Amino acid sequence: MAESMRAARPGRRSRRPKSFDAGRVCLRDGCTTVISRYNRSEFCFKHRPVSYPRLRGVLAEDREPRGA
Ligand SMILES: [Zn+2]
Repeated sequence: MAESMRAARPGRRSRRPKSFDAGRVCLRDGCTTVISRYNRSEFCFKHRPVSYPRLRGVLAEDREPRGA
């Protein structure tokens, strides 16, 4: 039954770690910050687009959530 084992071999290539090209540089013009290969973003931590959680389109910190 060695053949069935070979056929069911999971294969090492399919289970590669989530990493990206090493030595990438921030896409921002003039920025030469090298991005970690584990960083999904195409920008460095300073230029990466920040996604704030939006509540009703207004920053939650603007008003106190309590009261009417
Ligand atoms: Zn940058």
